[in-house]
Amino acid sequence: MDPVQLADASRLRTRATVLHADADSFFAAVEQRDKPSLRGRPVLVGGTGPRGVVSTASYEARRAGARSAMSMSRARRLSPAAAVLYPRFEAYSAYSRMIMSALGTLSELVEPLSIDEAFVDLEAGPFADDPAGAAADVRARIRELTGLAVSIGIGRTKLVAKLASDAGKPDGLLVVEPAQEDDFLLPLPVRAVPGIGPATAAALERLDVRTVADLRRQPLDILTMTVGESSGVNLFRLARGIDPRPVAVSGERKSVGAERTFAQDIFGTDLIAAAIDRVTDEALRRLTSHGGGARTVVAKVRFADFTTLTRSVTLAQPTAEPAELRAAAHQAARAAGISDSVRLLGVSFHNLSAHAQLTLPWDAEDVVPAVLDDPPDAPVDGAAGGPETLRLLSEENARPGLDVEHDTLGRGWVVHVRGRQATVRFESVDTPPARSQVLDLDADPLLLVPPLTPTLDG
Ligand SMILES: [Mg+2]
Repeated sequence: MDPVQLADASRLRTRATVLHADADSFFAAVEQRDKPSLRGRPVLVGGTGPRGVVSTASYEARRAGARSAMSMSRARRLSPAAAVLYPRFEAYSAYSRMIMSALGTLSELVEPLSIDEAFVDLEAGPFADDPAGAAADVRARIRELTGLAVSIGIGRTKLVAKLASDAGKPDGLLVVEPAQEDDFLLPLPVRAVPGIGPATAAALERLDVRTVADLRRQPLDILTMTVGESSGVNLFRLARGIDPRPVAVSGERKSVGAERTFAQDIFGTDLIAAAIDRVTDEALRRLTSHGGGARTVVAKVRFADFTTLTRSVTLAQPTAEPAELRAAAHQAARAAGISDSVRLLGVSFHNLSAHAQLTLPWDAEDVVPAVLDDPPDAPVDGAAGGPETLRLLSEENARPGLDVEHDTLGRGWVVHVRGRQATVRFESVDTPPARSQVLDLDADPLLLVPPLTPTLDG
């Protein structure tokens, strides 16, 4: 056996006790849950502006060919009947907390990878002898608490657990015992393996490598010649199911960032842009020493009059790539409407994840642009991580899918607003589906309100 392989293989566990849980089309599923008229219908969640990108497509929209990271305009053409909704991160976070807390009953070792995905080490809990039973129980509990489907894969490594939950989707549970690992892994296309993006897959295709079985036949030196030393070793290991990464609780840090108060207020596009760069550099240094990537970038801006605005941009996947994070920081600062004199600037990274390290460096084409695409003059309070100021709905602040409340008609959500005419469906999680209603905002003002979110005690 090759020394590389031997050293790592000796650290592998002998039974399938690494669990990977992943909610199915999470953002879209939350929207369908909270908006009864959308259940069973195609839904696209993402940027709703002209350059918007799909963050999540419901399974109904996927059947028409839409998928995440696709431009929203293309997805709309493929699935013209789809409801196109602006993301409501506050709602997704609340559902995420429910899912993570249910997973926490299985083991102390829960490593969230993103808002709807986590590894659980069952060896650290009471269910090491019955992983399939634990998974069935927790799937039922999550469905009861949140109404959402979570697919679960179990294997003896993170790699196999993750591939198994993918293979089980939607609403599936797949346990891959060590003895079945080769039967499971070898037929998979290399593109399915986390860490092998389109660029790597294309390089491998030139070697006639299309499946994991093809990859396993390649000698180590051929792989390192093709994709470089460390990535070649990585591929060599992946082909053998070798993945010694432990499940690690990464929750000790929720965010890293930097903030700067200026001795004198700064103003002017160039000076402000330079200041954003400096603060971002400092935040990036801290992210690098944290050792992972981030999915959400938050900009905090305090103006000369001491009003403070916070805006966030969430990427389609976590990244450690400085250029991407810097672009997102500028985008978030613009969304805060930065133009006047600025007293304080902050940039912070959230949804931290060691997962970004799985992305191999030459997969630049896998980089996915930001989801949010607010024009800088139209920040939406309460929708993108901003202050929860209650505001009256208008054409300027309307985004499809946002929650609103009417004096007598109750809670609903915005379909669209044209001028002073608002189209709204008055429905929520436990009401029957509602037809859309058109209101004149001058006669029937609507308040933009935070989502109704599930809680652990209710
Ligand atoms: Mg998911």
